[in-house]
Amino acid sequence: MNIPKKEKYQFQSETKQILDLMIHSLYSNKEIFIRELISNASDAIEKIRFQLLSQKNNTIQNMKMKIRISINKQSNTLMISDNGIGMTKDEIIQNLGTIANSGTKKFLHSINSKKLKNNELIGKFGVGFYSSFIVSEKVIVKTRHHTELEPNNSILWESDGKGEYTIKKTNKKDFGTDIELYLKNTEIDFLENWKIKNIVCKYSDHISIPIEIQEYDEKNKVFFWKQINKAKALWRIPKSEITDNEYQDFYKNLSKSNDEPLSWIHNKVEGTQEYISLLYIPKKSDWNIWNFDSIKNGLKLYIKKTYIMDDANQFLPNYLRFIKGIIDTNNLPINISREILQENNVTKILKKSLTKRILTLIKNLSVEKKEKYKIFWKEFGLIFKEGIAEDIENKNQIAELLRFSSIQSNGKEQELSLQEYVNNMSKNQTKIYFLTAENYHTANTSPHLGIYRKNNINVLLLYDKIDDWMMNYLTEFKEIKFQSINKIDDDFEKTFNTSYKKENITEEMQEFLKKIRIVLKNEIKSVQYSNKLIDTPCALITEKDAMSTQMSKLFLAAGKKIPPLQYILEINPMHPLITKIISNQNDKNINTWIKILFDQSLLAEKGSLDNPNIFIKNINQIFMHQ
Ligand code: ADP
Ligand code: MG
Repeated sequence: MNIPKKEKYQFQSETKQILDLMIHSLYSNKEIFIRELISNASDAIEKIRFQLLSQKNNTIQNMKMKIRISINKQSNTLMISDNGIGMTKDEIIQNLGTIANSGTKKFLHSINSKKLKNNELIGKFGVGFYSSFIVSEKVIVKTRHHTELEPNNSILWESDGKGEYTIKKTNKKDFGTDIELYLKNTEIDFLENWKIKNIVCKYSDHISIPIEIQEYDEKNKVFFWKQINKAKALWRIPKSEITDNEYQDFYKNLSKSNDEPLSWIHNKVEGTQEYISLLYIPKKSDWNIWNFDSIKNGLKLYIKKTYIMDDANQFLPNYLRFIKGIIDTNNLPINISREILQENNVTKILKKSLTKRILTLIKNLSVEKKEKYKIFWKEFGLIFKEGIAEDIENKNQIAELLRFSSIQSNGKEQELSLQEYVNNMSKNQTKIYFLTAENYHTANTSPHLGIYRKNNINVLLLYDKIDDWMMNYLTEFKEIKFQSINKIDDDFEKTFNTSYKKENITEEMQEFLKKIRIVLKNEIKSVQYSNKLIDTPCALITEKDAMSTQMSKLFLAAGKKIPPLQYILEINPMHPLITKIISNQNDKNINTWIKILFDQSLLAEKGSLDNPNIFIKNINQIFMHQ
């Protein structure tokens, strides 16, 4: 008998280094070797399919393509076989003995084993196959290239992953590749069928090639092959062939919940960027959506049909983090790491394109499915508002989708769009008016609102924490400027019929302002008579560019040091209380009155006083002298 000659080779030095790194760093996530080997097998099958397509070779074309996993508990071996393209001797040396990618050297120099820990960097440079050494003391690869007509010329590659490998000829009946893992004694867990099945379902359920595992039929005492993956990627099926029910079931699987999705969008894009996306808007937000340390989105990344990662948040902006779904692309290398994904140009292009798709989906809901849009806004409006600051490019589109409550709307529900507001503006009105406050009721009863109500001009009421921050970025809508009604408004006179004329201010009234300036010298920036106030004696406003009260509260709550706000005190000269005080200016309590006026304006504006006791004392003093 002709004993085949065994040839000994050394791994390329970098290869050895990667092997060492990998074995030591990937301990917590060993199971990924199955994903890597299945992904290679699936690639090999894709390649042969492609070859056969061009060759029109009917004999092999009719062969059933499959990946098979068999377990042998006697020999502690796990074998993954495919009937894919196979490798020639040169190819096996090239593919399994060296690292083709020149970037690998740089990569190795820049990395330490700590960084490799979270499995994400592994294989970025084509080291996927080596992950089999994490669990194996020896790996044997038997392969027969699809052009090799002589079974005896098949190749057997063998290594313990310690620096050397050998190659010899062997006999292999079928085309394709068998990867046989001789598991370490500590890894015999992987000899359990159920365990393998679980791992395959987790990572490779949607690989389009059937994966079969060998099972034993106790009754008939025979082995048989059982398919364990679905081998059918829903998102790769044409839209017209998928029922709503199937979409919904798929969502339930994906979100691990029983809820139905609010809506979804399924696209296949061809051309330079090839991808398929299936994106869902849920009905409810996840409990941890506000937990910024664990920002997740339920977007799964598939590359070339292989599951790569959950929470691929690189593909969506933060303000769309509630979206769940799949992105499947052929334009990225299969073993890309999260860090590299982030910087990748393809990722950036896909992110842009997915964002547009989702905004279109949301827009469609707002136009065609108003009831659903209400649910969307209630559940995700708060997060969605972040988009105004985060996504400059789509700001206008996001602004159109915002919803507000207003002084003319029914209660606190946020249902009014900016477009509707603009459509109903009155003749002289040139701005979109808004007011921010701590909560809806404070907003809706604000002293600033009087004149707008009287003139039948609508004011948006903003009472979510994020609103002030958002309004810093939202300065106009369709070229109409926003105006906060508790800030100075230069166009006020043009728009409103004011209730008093400057000429009517008497000397007595001037005198009163002077007194206020003295008493509140350290508290306010200035004081003036206002033509805006209706039922209130006084109120506070700020300069156009000043920080708003709500914003300053947020800063203070976050422990930031900010200078005190510089308020302008506005006095309503028509209010009976003010006329009464003015006519009794010689009252010895005048200073107390002034302090009370200021404190009550501050209370209305801020909701609290630095020292409420002084306010109470002042009020009591006035009561006692009545
Ligand atoms: P990658 O898959 O990223 O290229 P791997 O380390 O997983 O990196 O595999 C290296 C190469 O080895 C593959 O590109 C392929 O050419 C070859 N290879 C691995 N497994 C198989 C297989 N089952 N059949 C054919 N070729 C394979
Ligand atoms: Mg691979």
